[in-house]
Parts: sequence; structure tokens; C-alpha cells
Amino acid sequence: MRFEFATATRILFGPGSVASLAEIAAPLGRRALLVTGRSVERASPARDALTAAGLAVVPFPTAGEPTVADVRRGAAAARAGGVDLVVACGGGSAIDAGKAVAALLGNGGDPLDYLEVVGRGHPIARPSAPFVAIPTTAGTGSEVTRNAVLASPEHGVKASLRSPLMLARAAIVDPDLLVGLPPHVVAASGLDAFAQLVEPFVSVRANPLVDGLCREGLARSARSLRRAFEGDAPEAVRVDLATASLFGGLALANAGLGAVHGFAAPVGGLFDAPHGAACAALLPAVLRVNLRALRQRRRESPALARYREIAAIVTGQPDAGADDGVAWVEDLVRALLVPGLSRWGAAEADLPALVTKARAASSMKGNPIELEDAELEEIALASL
Ligand SMILES: [Zn+2]
Repeated sequence: MRFEFATATRILFGPGSVASLAEIAAPLGRRALLVTGRSVERASPARDALTAAGLAVVPFPTAGEPTVADVRRGAAAARAGGVDLVVACGGGSAIDAGKAVAALLGNGGDPLDYLEVVGRGHPIARPSAPFVAIPTTAGTGSEVTRNAVLASPEHGVKASLRSPLMLARAAIVDPDLLVGLPPHVVAASGLDAFAQLVEPFVSVRANPLVDGLCREGLARSARSLRRAFEGDAPEAVRVDLATASLFGGLALANAGLGAVHGFAAPVGGLFDAPHGAACAALLPAVLRVNLRALRQRRRESPALARYREIAAIVTGQPDAGADDGVAWVEDLVRALLVPGLSRWGAAEADLPALVTKARAASSMKGNPIELEDAELEEIALASL
């Protein structure tokens, strides 16, 4: 057994923890770029903490998932503003944008110099500018991952800037920031987190450190996601969702992912599908097809016992079978009103291109079994 575990230098978790940004940021710089999502208001506790610590704040609002151009613009704004610290407070998109800007500030150059797949892929050789990440949704876990996903619209794909040097100096996970999220965001981000706990747990790179995080995260997500979607989100429920999201990020960054995320990358690149919504739509078919393929071709795979364990955790029935777990997830996805991929413009004619790109996606390498083209097509078709 070999594994490595790398994460943010510090993780601060708890209701009200966003206020600790003041003491964390004070020694890191004098001027902070504050990267936010569309709703700048959601980041006001972070802005207040920075101001209280005596830092000047240069705001940088972003809209939607970041593009290469957004990051280029953010780095230019940071340089022009004499910024020495980057704070991102928002959903996974804002955090990825901030993480990429911090990497550019530390390394110089343009996003395309370092971007995988469609860029020049140069290694990120120097540490990022100090970076602090504060999520306001419970989904991506991006606050503890070492990559930033950027869209390159002219290439029709999403690709990552990636380096352990991009890990945040601090991740502040404050469940109070989840108050007031709209139900469709709770559903998409919550099911992304759920998928990010399932895929590392059955991944070919699964390891014991991550396994424990997955078990705990799955139990919390299973008992609280439906309640949160229905608008019943007391502190205990928000703590569960925030924990599941954080643990999913820790897990995926250190044990890899699988076919849900293998498909989500091209779906997000070819269509205007938000990442969480794409993952949520793909999850049931991926579970079903993976399980069948393992039973047909790799009966000795340890992943089969893992699927049974997931079923026991989510249903609360110790003797549940793997298929009971799949049925439970199908019910949940239906209850959370997740639209199929056709909602985002995908159609049957797109299946061959989706399958080709999904097969090549880096996340696909973690899938517990190599899926055949007919199986990949079946997943895509069932997820429309
Ligand atoms: Zn994801």
C-alpha cells in the first residue's frame, strides 16, 4: 500500500468561523484580492473580516464557472491593485478562479502557459501567492484541492491548472454561510459532494486515510441532503452538508474520481451545464453500469464490497445489497428534481463525442473498472 495525503495548510471548520479570516489574513498581506461569485453579498462576512484586520480589499466578482479569460483578467486586476494575498469566498467557481489567480501571481505568465490538455502544460514551479478559500456552497470541496478547473470556450473543454503548490494556506468552512441557498443549488452541489465521496471510495487509488473520510461524509450527506433540499436546514443539517463537501474534496484530491467526473468534464465543456448538475444527472447510471461491469468482468474487485458498504451506510440497513444502494441514490436524485443532461442541450447526436472525450478524461482513470464504449454510451444515453 502506498499513498500520499496533501491538503490546505490549515482547515478551520465551524459556524461563525469566517470571522477568523481576520487573524489568518493579517500576517499574509496588506492588500487582498477578494474573488466572489455573482452574489457579492454572500461574501460580505469575508470582506468585513479583511477590513477589520486592516487590509485593503480589491473586489473581483466573477460570474459562473471561470474561463481562461476570467483568470487572465483577475491576475491583471491583482497586479494593478498591488495585491499580496488572494481570498476567494463563493462557490467552487469563485474558489477555482481565486486559486488560479494566486498561482499566476506566484508564477507569472498566462493561464495557457500552464493549462493541461489545451494549454502548453508547463509545470507550476513556484508557490502561489498566499491564498485563502472560503466556500459558500456545500459541493466541490475546492477549498482543499490542488487544481483549478478553467473553461476554454474556443476549445470546447474544461481543463485544470494543477500543482500541490496551489493548495490554500487556509480553508475556512463555515456552515453559517450556507443559509439561504436556493434548493436547486443545494441539490446540485450536494449531489456533487455525494459523488465525490462515492468515487474516491471505490477508486483504484482508494486508501485507508480517505476511506474514513468517505464513510463519515456519506453518512452525513445521506441523512441531511433531502432535508436541506426541502428547506429544513437547521445548524446540524448545514454542518452535515459542509462536512460532506469538505471530506469529498479531501477524498478526491488524494484518491481520484471515476466515470461521473470523467463525463462531467466534457459535458461541462460542450454544454452550459453547471458541474454539480452534470454530476447529479450522471450518478445513477454510472453506479448501475459500474456495478454490472464489475460483476461480469471483475468479480474479485474490492470495489464490489465497497458498493455494498455504501448501500448499508445510506440506507441504514446493515444487510443492504449494492443494488439497494443504487435504488436509494436513484430515489434521491428523483426527489431532488435533478434534470437530465438534455436540459443543458445534450442530445443523442452528441453521444459519440461525449464518449470519446469522457474516455480520455483524467478522472476516468480512477474508475474501478475500465468501461467499454457501449457501456459509456449507455451511461450517456440514460443520463440525457
Ligand atoms: Zn465534482
